[in-house]
Formats: sequence, C-alpha cells, structure tokens
Amino acid sequence: MELLTIGAFAKASRLSPKALRLYDELGLLTPARVDPDTGYRRYAPEQLEQARLVAWLRRLGMPLARIRRVCALEPGEAAGEIRAYWARVEADTAARRDLAAFLVDHLNGKDPTMSRTTAPLALRYAALSDTGRVRASNQDTAYAGSRLLAVADGYGAGGAPASAAAVDALRSLESETVPAGDLLNALEDALGRAEQAVHGVASPGDDGADADADAGTTLTAMLWTGSQLALVHIGDSRVHLLRDGELFQITHDHTVVQSLIDEGRLTPEEAASHPQRSLLLRALGRGADSTPDLRLHDARAGDRYLLCSDGLSTVVPAEDVLRVLTGTPEPEAAVRELVGLANASGGPDNVSCVVADVVAQA
Ligand code: MG
Repeated sequence: MELLTIGAFAKASRLSPKALRLYDELGLLTPARVDPDTGYRRYAPEQLEQARLVAWLRRLGMPLARIRRVCALEPGEAAGEIRAYWARVEADTAARRDLAAFLVDHLNGKDPTMSRTTAPLALRYAALSDTGRVRASNQDTAYAGSRLLAVADGYGAGGAPASAAAVDALRSLESETVPAGDLLNALEDALGRAEQAVHGVASPGDDGADADADAGTTLTAMLWTGSQLALVHIGDSRVHLLRDGELFQITHDHTVVQSLIDEGRLTPEEAASHPQRSLLLRALGRGADSTPDLRLHDARAGDRYLLCSDGLSTVVPAEDVLRVLTGTPEPEAAVRELVGLANASGGPDNVSCVVADVVAQA
C-alpha cells in the first residue's frame, strides 16, 4: 500500500499540515504510520474520506471533542449524531431569535409613529388549581391578577412551597408600575428573586438532611403591559393562544423528550408514552438550568390565553381543550371545565389552569 506524505495528504484532503498534526495530537485522525526516526507522518489513501469528514464538520462549527465522537461511529449513527448537533444549534439560534424579536417589538412599541389608535385593552381572567385524583397534595400554584398570570409546577419534597414562592416573587410586578423600557430588566430581576425564593425553600435543613435538595419548580408567567403580554417560561408548563378560532401552543417544553423530538430521535407519539417524559431540562431549583424563554406578544381584543401545568396537557387532548376554550365564554367556567376534564381522565397529576381574555376596556 502506497502511503502519502503529510504534504500530499494535506493537498488531497484540503486540510493544512498544521491542522493534520493537531488532529493527530487530539486523536481525531491518526496517521497510518509515523517514522520512528524522523517523526514524519504518513497517511493511507483510504483515510482521505475521514479527513474530509473532519474538515466539513469543522466548517459546520462542531467542537473537536464531538467530531472525535462522530468519526468513531458507523455512518448511520454518525448521520444521527450530526442531525442531533444541528438541531441543538438551531434551538440555540431560535432562543436568540426570540430575544431579538422581543427587543424589536419592544422598541417598535416605543416608536411614536407606530402608536396604536385602538381602544384600551384589559384582561378578564380566572385561575384554578386542583390536587387531581391520585396525588396526596397539590404542588402546583396558579395565579391570575389584573397584570400577572402564572402557573408553577413544583417537584421534589419541597415542591409546593417552591412553586408558591416562585409565583409570589413575581407578584411584586403587579403593584410596581414597570416603565416599558425596563420591562426586560424588571422581569429578569423578578426571576432572580423567584430563583432565590425557590432556593430558600428547597435548601437542606439544619440537620444537614438534603431530602429537599432536588426540589424546584417550573414557572410560566405572562405580565400585562396594557397593550402587550411579556412571557417568561421555564420548564414544561405551557401557554396556548386561542386566536381566530385556532389554538397555538406558544411555549416550547424544556424537557428531555422535547429535545429528543427536536433532534429527530423521537416522534411526538413515542414521546407521549416515554417513561421519562416529565424529566425537565430547565427549571427553577438548585443545580437546574434556569435560563428563561422571554417573549413579547402584541395583544388583540378577542385573544384568549390558557396557561396550564402538565397535569392538563398530559391527559386532555388538544381538541377537547379547543372545544372548551371556544365554547365557554366565562374564564371561571372555562378553568373549571378544563380541570374537570383532567380529573375525568383519571387526574393522575396536580392540574392548574389560568384563562385570560383580552377585552376592549369599557
Ligand atoms: Mg405536573
């Protein structure tokens, strides 16, 4: 077998000799032979394919450690790994796109040439939280006020105080008049307080026992500004928007199964019965990633928002939720019916619903 010099191999693979030496040191691409006396590296022609793959993955921006993993896989598995990597890149980009859209909406809202001439809007709302039919206690917290809507789903031994503390920390936003320009900072500060409060209730006791160490909560909340709703979302509680007769889920679950769906490794049908479907990727709690999704929604008269914990979405099909939301004008009746549907389906989890209508102010 004719081995290629590093120069010839570099030319054929479009990688520089310097890069080839680096990849050798990192174990990405080991030469077929290294001369024991001179240290010259020589490569086999059939290594060209792997060298080209490394070069393309570098161009994709994949970290070296991950490239090493891909190169060790069979082609089919390698393809899956590249797909998963790219899905992660797109998810990260989507999160930054949301933040950019938030800022654009916010700045446009301040632009006097884009001021609205429509009637002032207000919220009509109701909240209901229920233990369900199986659990011994309710660890969910649901809240609705004239400016704040929130659902939190606590977990672990201190789950109930954790969800209550998280929502409580946001309630100061109801009474504070937040200048529009400070909205993002005010939300971030409130989230910081919520996180501290959750850590406070979930910290180990004086006796050193850390039974509560894994306690935490999801937090999904909307803050009304008078013309817009700012959304803060961490975990797997959800927000749906009913607009023009159609129901849209406007939050993305921060769960392991959702990331597997995003990466194309799991179908939504498989996810529904996945044993770890409630495993969270993000939450408010010690050691958890608490990065929030933040978004600003323009309110329209006639819009109806539903915030709910997974105790509703897991057992009540979307078409039933749509039927209740379109057929029940009063928010109080709507939340009662939705909680009733979850309990009629066995009520396996705590269930919380907040329904809020955007209405023209009388
Ligand atoms: Mg739950």
